[in-house]
Amino acid sequence: MIVVMKQGATQEEIDGVSKRVKEAGLRTSVVTGAERTIVGIIGGAVSPDLGSSLERLPGVTQVLRVSRPYKLASREFHPDDTVVKIGDAYIGGEHPVMVMAGPCSVETEKQVVEVAKAVKAAGAKVLRGGAFKPRTSPYSFRGLKLDGLKLLAKAREETGLPVITEVLDTRDVEVVHKYSDVLQVGARNMQNFNLLDEVGKQHKPVLLKRGLSATIEEWLLAAEYVLAQGNHNVILCERGIRTFETYTRNTLDLSAIPVVRKLSHLPVVSDPSHGTGKWYLVPPMAAASVAAGAHGLIIEVHPNPDQAKSDGAQSLTPENFAYMMEQVRAISKVQGLSRKPLTAAKA
Ligand code: PEP
Ligand code: MN
Repeated sequence: MIVVMKQGATQEEIDGVSKRVKEAGLRTSVVTGAERTIVGIIGGAVSPDLGSSLERLPGVTQVLRVSRPYKLASREFHPDDTVVKIGDAYIGGEHPVMVMAGPCSVETEKQVVEVAKAVKAAGAKVLRGGAFKPRTSPYSFRGLKLDGLKLLAKAREETGLPVITEVLDTRDVEVVHKYSDVLQVGARNMQNFNLLDEVGKQHKPVLLKRGLSATIEEWLLAAEYVLAQGNHNVILCERGIRTFETYTRNTLDLSAIPVVRKLSHLPVVSDPSHGTGKWYLVPPMAAASVAAGAHGLIIEVHPNPDQAKSDGAQSLTPENFAYMMEQVRAISKVQGLSRKPLTAAKA
């Protein structure tokens, strides 16, 4: 349930609503929008009595039942787009498409610094790189762990690019928080609810990948876990889902991008690298993602993809990444020009 305050409602009136909700044993999350303040009620079911008592409080214009199972992630609760700050750049709303790029795994200082410089020169705003790697086989390279985080910090120092890296386990949240600017929750951990709680308790942005077989609703409910802990800096990431098709590694669900933009206020990023598994499909699917309304892209880049310790087949060379960026810039221009709300036909 959400409580919509009148335009110009006072702080005292907003506090009055929160107090009444707390007395009923529930919690609130307050969103101050450009036009109105909305108080979301979380922590359990709201009785009809509480609903009608809130409606009678001063400063309240309406009490609405949120029709979706996720609340804080829904557009009903937060009508304006959420904008997340990463370093000096912003992602979400009308901000230019933010590109995050770098190797799948951090391997050596030379590799990560070289890639960081190249992707920055081509226009990337964030460096990606895995230090804790989720691998299907336990015998595959599982990342340099703390040493990898330190190499990312070194690359950040050399280039000024903020860093995104995956956190695999609740026990590593603290150390990953220390070394990174954005914490990535990988597809395989999308429903690791304890991990979602932990990344929700810290305040650095969280990039939440869609699970391999997760519905959009399950994905938004996973985001709800992070939001419910008080961290509102959540970025969603479509990275392909499992279908019957085997030619591509996954099927990049492009339609999920406008769906999520309709259902939620959170920024959405596309990952055509994991979404396709093939480097030559990355530029066209990156362009298509931007055309579909993605607020950002996350792209794997390696100086020698054929020698990469993970995901070489889907990694772009720095040259091909620069080419992709040109295409993305061209499509972004058109996307910006044509962004106009559609109206449904009347029944
Ligand atoms: C990655 O970003 O390297 C990764 C492992 O991604 P995903 O969780 O989407 O498979
Ligand atoms: Mn990868």
